[in-house]
Formats: sequence, structure tokens, C-alpha cells
Amino acid sequence: MVNHQHIRTFVNEARPQFENMLAQMVEVPSISMDPSRASDMRRMADLAVHCLTELGAEAQVVETDGYPIISGGWMIGPRYPTVTVYNHMDVQPAQEPEWKQEPFAFRNDNGVYHGRGATDDKGPALAALFGAQFAVEQGLPINIRFVWELEEEIGSPHFADGLKDRKAIPQPNSVVVSDTIWIAKGRPAVPYGLRGLLGARLILRTGTKDAHSGLTGGAARNPLAELMEIAHACLDAKTGRVKIPGFYDEVVQPTKAEIKSFLKSGFQVSRFKKAYGFQSIRTSDPIDVMRCIWAAPTFEIHGLTGGYHGPGVKTMVPSQGELKISMRLVPSQTPEAIFTKLKRYVGTLNPNVKVEQEGVLQPFQGLFDGPYVAAVKRAVKGGFGKEPVFVREGGSIGAVVTMQRAWKVPILFMGLSLPEHGYHAPNEYFDWGQASGGMKTFAHYFSELARMVK
Ligand SMILES: [Zn+2]
Repeated sequence: MVNHQHIRTFVNEARPQFENMLAQMVEVPSISMDPSRASDMRRMADLAVHCLTELGAEAQVVETDGYPIISGGWMIGPRYPTVTVYNHMDVQPAQEPEWKQEPFAFRNDNGVYHGRGATDDKGPALAALFGAQFAVEQGLPINIRFVWELEEEIGSPHFADGLKDRKAIPQPNSVVVSDTIWIAKGRPAVPYGLRGLLGARLILRTGTKDAHSGLTGGAARNPLAELMEIAHACLDAKTGRVKIPGFYDEVVQPTKAEIKSFLKSGFQVSRFKKAYGFQSIRTSDPIDVMRCIWAAPTFEIHGLTGGYHGPGVKTMVPSQGELKISMRLVPSQTPEAIFTKLKRYVGTLNPNVKVEQEGVLQPFQGLFDGPYVAAVKRAVKGGFGKEPVFVREGGSIGAVVTMQRAWKVPILFMGLSLPEHGYHAPNEYFDWGQASGGMKTFAHYFSELARMVK
């Protein structure tokens, strides 16, 4: 058990060092999406190693064909269970005009830490690291490892390859991911499921050049109209229901216990609408909304290209068009099977349409009960004074599925970010309340794991 007085003293004493490290990290613009930042990415890797070793962990840079992975931690012996904490050290670009400060100049405003990457995901990474340092100082019988990725924001293209280096990145007994957001401040939330993704382009060419509608209209086929017909056949735009045959066959509906848990999350339809600037949405029932965004699959139309986009109306018949779509998938749907269903259906509707697969991410089903979940609940209660609610996430984290495939061990989530922290948004920040609660939570969690049989 973690002694509350000890951890409180530790966290208070760690604060200046935590703030100093976070400042250094935020000031490295580790934008993985921007090829001109390659040297900053290298600086980020070196700094990450430096932070780990400064707290007494061993650490190394694991090279991949892309940006490297940082692997480190404390190994006390193979007899003990090993937990790996996953975070990422790359950040989103920060070019939004709404920034009120230079995004890569760290500003500590009395425990509010401003700057790109503060909450996603450098602050949570450091909170976990300090929690681990405390656990190690207590002599807990557990090996604590860190895997810090540098390509999360670009979809983790080299992560699976990097994990093959079992010597540098040992196989753990469980994983904890700290890269998620609570639903509301003061109400810790732990996701246990992520939606997957399947993107596709539907392409139709009916001629070699655009034609004049006065000369050819009526006889000429219109590829945009034909693609719209397909869109209509695939999706009920009013309800969001997907009409591809067999689309819902594998969908597992959330249980009563899961819905009950969703309801305790602090989710509010009004806040949701305000956050995303929606004037109206498809349903105003909170259970329906949570089910739609977390536990149900979707079919989204992102764009229809081809034809004329200038001012006024040009009376031409386009020769080709492209419909850009994607689907969010839930456990146990697979992008492969859904793509087959889509392609078959489009083929029966219009055999001239080519269906090209784009981005693919598998959905993730985590744990909703059992000893690891109980450990997370006790740890969060120890850190934040309140048991977490278990929710799902509508988005995808490719690295999570990669770790599940590589290691086949339980993966738990302990995110520390708040909705107002501005994930992927201008004026991103993190704060000492979440950081200190996070350090305590991680310290408690390591102690819980140490007590579990390997
Ligand atoms: Zn992140």
C-alpha cells in the first residue's frame, strides 16, 4: 500500500523538477507530421532519454525506419511482473491563428502549463514517470518500463516494427496507456474501448473530358449524381443508420452495466454541442448520443469531388467524380470484412464505380471488469479521491492495437487530460492538479500491480 503522507510529500518535492522537465519538453517542437522538424525529433528523443536517466531509470533510443522509440525504466528482476507505460512524445502542428502565445514557448502560470504538447502527451508521460520513481524508491517488487513513441500523431507507421526488438523493448505482463481525456473535470474517466476506422474512395469515370450540358445533357451520364445515389443507398442521412447489407452483423451492443457506467461519466449533450459548435444533432437523448459516438459504427461522407466549384453555375457535365468516405468501426467489426461488404454492395449498385481502400485502424476492446480494472479503480481513487467511470472512446489509437497484437496482454488506460486542456487545439495546456493527481494515481497503480500475482 502507498502511504498517503509519503506520496504527498514526494509529489510536492517533485514539483519543481517536473515543471522544469515539462518546460524543456514543450519547448522542443516535436511535430512528427512536419518533415522539416526532423532535427527537433532527434532532440526530443535525446531529451526523453535524459529525463528518464535523470530520475534514475535506464533508457535508450530504439531506431526504426521512421522516428525512433524511447524505451527505458527500472528492471529489478525477471521474477517480478513487468508493466509498460505507453505515452508519445510527438505533437500536433500548432499553426492555428487562435494561439494567444508562442505555442512552443512554455509558460507556467501558477501551475497551469501552457504550450503545445503539454497535455498531449508530454505532461501525462512525466506524471507517470514521477509516479514510477516513487514506486521504485519504495522498493516495490515490480519492473516498470516506459515506451515513448515519436510517431503517434501520424498513425504509428513504424511502431509495430520497433516492438520487434524484444531486447530493447521487453514483453510486459500488462500495459497502461496514458493518452486519453476525461469527459468532465472532477470526474475521472477510463476508456476501455476504441473505435476502428476504414477509409475509402469511390471513383467513377464516365468520359475522357467534361461536356456541355446543352449539347450532351440528357444522354450523358452524370458521375456525381450516380455517386450521390450510392451515398444515399449506403446511409440514411437523417438517422445515421448504415444501409450496407450485413454492416451491423458483428456489432456487440453495450451491456446494461456499460450504459449505466456511461451515464455516470458527466457527459452532457449541451456541453458536447457547444464544444463542437453544433446547432443541432441527430438525437438529444444523452444515452443515444454516447452510444452513437462511443459504441456504434458510423458511415461518414467527407467530400465529393469533380465538376465545377467556382462562382455561379457552369453548365457542364463532369466526366468523373470521387466520393470520399470513412467508417468508424466498433468491436468486433473488422475493416477487412467491412471493406468486402462495401465493395460487394457498391458493385451491385453500380459496377462502374471503383472502390479504393484508404486508412485502416482496428477497433480495440479493452477490459470492463476483473483484477486489472479493480486495480485501476483503486489507483484512481487513491490519486484523485474518486473512483473513475468506465467509458469508451470514439476515436482510434493505432499504437494500442499494435501493442495488443505484439504482446497479447491486458491494456488499461489512465488518461490525465481534461476536455478544456485543448487536445489538438490552440492554447493547449496541462495543470498541476492533474499532474499531481496523476503521479499519485500511477504510484498507487504500481503498488496494486506489485501485489497481484504475476
Ligand atoms: Zn496523444
